[in-house]
Amino acid sequence: MTETLNNLTVLGAGVLGGQIAWHSAFKGKQVVVYDLYDDSLERCKMAHQQYAVIYLAELGATQAMISETHARLTYSSQLADAVARADLVIEAVPEIPETKTSVYQQMASLLPAHTLVATNSSTLLPAQFASATGRPEKYCALHFANMIWSMNLAEVMAHADTADDTLRAITRFAIEIGMVPIPIQKEQNGYVLNTWLVPLLNATQSLITNGVSTPEYIDRTYLIANRGCTLGPCGIMDIIGMKTCYDVMTYWGNENQDEQLLANAAYIKQHFIVQGKLGLQTGEGYYRYPDPAYQAQDFLAVPGLDAVEDLVRLVRPHPLAAAS
Ligand code: NAD
Repeated sequence: MTETLNNLTVLGAGVLGGQIAWHSAFKGKQVVVYDLYDDSLERCKMAHQQYAVIYLAELGATQAMISETHARLTYSSQLADAVARADLVIEAVPEIPETKTSVYQQMASLLPAHTLVATNSSTLLPAQFASATGRPEKYCALHFANMIWSMNLAEVMAHADTADDTLRAITRFAIEIGMVPIPIQKEQNGYVLNTWLVPLLNATQSLITNGVSTPEYIDRTYLIANRGCTLGPCGIMDIIGMKTCYDVMTYWGNENQDEQLLANAAYIKQHFIVQGKLGLQTGEGYYRYPDPAYQAQDFLAVPGLDAVEDLVRLVRPHPLAAAS
């Protein structure tokens, strides 16, 4: 029987690292959250308070379960301490290859011999980093989706040298924390989920960058065409976070010499990142939170005839468009 991985260290206390850490602790794992920056750790602690509210309200958690979850979590900016007892390290640092490589290299000599390592990268391949970990056979991808408590899938992707025992233990870990494991049969940038999602978000951002339509009308179109969905692509970008959207567009824009993608990244930087609007986590991205427009009762309603003039004014170049 594969051994249970009880001690988890999460590298990167951002949007996804914070969620993976909280959810794993809620499911009984001992978790250390590591980040290079103390202010990121402080933001992560605040996010954990917010997740507690969600788990109490939506997941049937009791106050005792929430207290136990907090008790299983520790936060550290010292890498050696953070990984000293880890059975599993999940890396969730920015989607910037140099950053990931440098963290793996720093960590390699600090890890106990038995420790497994998994990347939560959205679009990069484990093969890119396997040698930097110093333990390629104990390394693979374990990719979670944002809002881990309701989007409970975990994509498991190996590289050529990942050992079967590593995949067994990681898959078991995913099940123990309530995920549906999605086996990926060959290395693929974006797994299953992001092979769909990233092109959708890129196409959406191109519509905005090029002034073809507005965020709300794009989301309206999506939500009417996909009745029953609760989020359109601009709402999804807010939840992912503008920094990660920017990192992904910048990396792939450079990699593929894709001018549109680089223009999309520049748009996100100019209109959001430099203004501190990082999406849901800072209360504003394409929408303002806690009550984003797309959650209004009438968001998908047929407008009254008094809206005709306003709608006609929108059949013109969008004032926020980079090209205008
Ligand atoms: P984020 O920008 O919210 O968080 C990254 C964290 O890493 C920050 O707290 C930052 O301080 C920290 N960091 C930066 N450099 C570091 C270093 N050298 N050492 C340690 N910590 C460092 O990013 P995120 O959205 O949480 O994404 C993290 C990873 O997870 C990326 O690979 C991303 O592609 C992936 N991912 C993101 C989502 C999403 O919806 N946001 C979903 C699935 C996977």
